[in-house]
Amino acid sequence: MAQSVKGMRDLFGAELRWFQHIEDTARKCFERHGYREIRTPILEELEVFKRSVGDSSDIVKKEMYDFVDKGGRHVVMRPENTAGVVRAMVEHKLLQTSDPQLLYYIGPQFRYERMQAGRYRQFWQIGAESFGVASPESDAESLVMLYDFLRELGLEKLSFSLNSVGTPESRPAFQAAFRAFFAEREAQFCGDCHRRIEENPLRVLDCKVPTCQKALAGHPLISEFLDEASEKHHARLKELLRDLGVPFTEDPRLVRGLDYYTKTAFEVLSGDIGAQSAILGGGRYDLLVKHLGGPDVPAFGWAIGLDRLAMVCQTLRGEAPHRPPALLIPLGDRATGEAMKLARSLWAAGASVQLETRGVALKKAMTTANRTGIQTVLILGDGELDGGTVTVKHMATGEQEAWPLADLATHLKTL
Ligand code: AMP
Repeated sequence: MAQSVKGMRDLFGAELRWFQHIEDTARKCFERHGYREIRTPILEELEVFKRSVGDSSDIVKKEMYDFVDKGGRHVVMRPENTAGVVRAMVEHKLLQTSDPQLLYYIGPQFRYERMQAGRYRQFWQIGAESFGVASPESDAESLVMLYDFLRELGLEKLSFSLNSVGTPESRPAFQAAFRAFFAEREAQFCGDCHRRIEENPLRVLDCKVPTCQKALAGHPLISEFLDEASEKHHARLKELLRDLGVPFTEDPRLVRGLDYYTKTAFEVLSGDIGAQSAILGGGRYDLLVKHLGGPDVPAFGWAIGLDRLAMVCQTLRGEAPHRPPALLIPLGDRATGEAMKLARSLWAAGASVQLETRGVALKKAMTTANRTGIQTVLILGDGELDGGTVTVKHMATGEQEAWPLADLATHLKTL
């Protein structure tokens, strides 16, 4: 029997319900802040990621689902969504005015990753991007939105890990100091790090190899080389977060693996299930829009992995908030004819009702109701039709009562 492709999985049942609940919460939360959804295609031209995520990144080097299509175009199934969003904003000339553009996206991303628990080759991200504002207030607004969103989902042990990675003006001095540090102990670093030190020294800090992490002890910190503007920006952001009650710690070693970050870089750590671990990251990327051929427009954004977030929620809270429909079971020919009309009027009134259409006996229909987690059963037979009522059975208690048909929709909606 055919199976799903390695690293890709079907979403259904309890896990999907969490996905849906998280997506609904995200939409509500972000729209409240004035963010609007954007949906970009899954396929983008290779160039979009080479120029944004960066030629030297692991994503572009090793993890892309790329191929040449029938028309000879080299395309990629997007490994992340920021580059596509920026490409779209530039293409549709949406960044020509000084108006801020606040956007969010929800969608699947693709990376040819080595298999490990919780990592998939098709995974989902929710992200928010704000374009056009360079102020630390803009960083804080986005971070508060993110914090409130995660709190609304029930995550409590949250902390932001914060750093500033400076600007192209401040980076050469850091890079020189860092390269000198590296040169003194280069034998201790892995092959990838030898490549990284040439292409983008910041990436060495991101290396996951334990011996590299050990060799990094005492390395020069980017925070010691910040330009004045970056320093001021960072100080103001910290002040804002303190005022707003968003907990954070400073992590001078935090850098993001992508080339286009400037100033703020952050991760969110959750201690809600087990040891504290990062559940998302993001930051300021004032250079990306211009780099992708657009105007000189600053931006701030982040992306959270939905697969991971759903797992945290499920572990923490069990079932996602969900109300199953009532099940309407008609008994006998006359009721079978009337049940569809009744269901239709209930649907029109906004009630959730599933219609039993198999024509089976009550016992069999009740077994199905039990198995599928239905909590309210509506029985419609000749007696009920004559009396203008429906028999309601509450599955949890076994209690039964008669409800007048006229009040049924109202009753169901208040369950
Ligand atoms: P990144 O775009 O690499 O900064 O990743 C942002 C978030 O996406 C991470 O914190 C993860 O939660 C999630 N993520 C990235 N890659 C994967 C993957 N292969 N499978 C599942 N989630 C992922």
